[in-house]
Amino acid sequence: MSLLCEDPSVTPLPVTDSVVGIDFGLDHLLVLSTGEKIGNPQHEQRDRTALAKAQRALCRKQKGSTNRAKARVEVARVHARTADRRTDYLRKITTRLVRENQTLVIEDLAVSNMVGNHRLARAISGAGWRQCRQMLEYKARWYGRQVIAVDRWFPSSKLCSACGALAETMPLRVRTWTCACGAAHDRDVNAARNILAAGLAVTVCGAGVRPQRSSPGGQSVTKQTPLRREP
Ligand SMILES: [Zn+2]
Repeated sequence: MSLLCEDPSVTPLPVTDSVVGIDFGLDHLLVLSTGEKIGNPQHEQRDRTALAKAQRALCRKQKGSTNRAKARVEVARVHARTADRRTDYLRKITTRLVRENQTLVIEDLAVSNMVGNHRLARAISGAGWRQCRQMLEYKARWYGRQVIAVDRWFPSSKLCSACGALAETMPLRVRTWTCACGAAHDRDVNAARNILAAGLAVTVCGAGVRPQRSSPGGQSVTKQTPLRREP
């Protein structure tokens, strides 16, 4: 048995002027405004395969048999290991991000809505978005950092982070695109840059650090007003 504790009595870190925008990608777990892409854990796929195998084995065992009981324990064991590894991976990433940056801007995603879309479901739930956000938030409190969540309707993918032009459509399969202004974008990095800009605008204008879902005008930033809604 092993216990892993994070000490909540940690002291705030020295103030830094680094800021980062974070996009929760599909191909990658996280994409940063710096252009860095943080992948899903290497073992994620392997764990999933092991779990499927254990579940198949369980199905084949006769009800009430000793072998079935053993197989059930095996399924539970694989489940637990998968979850532990994921949590461990997220802990390491979130600690690094919070240590390195003073302000972290994320998108206020409605995860439950998106999980309804089956194609996205595995990528999103598997990567533990919600867990990741929670970790960023409590670690930011410990270390004297700031997490800003920008409106989830902010058109982060369609907006050119160089000139501010808004593309009409941006289907999910489009991974890279070039704006009329000549800027070539990686879809997720561009989104992370827009998220960062939106978050910084919110702090500068003092328009409320965390826009509430009930008040879509939470980010009353004039510059962004015509761009806020994504159809
Ligand atoms: Zn542009």
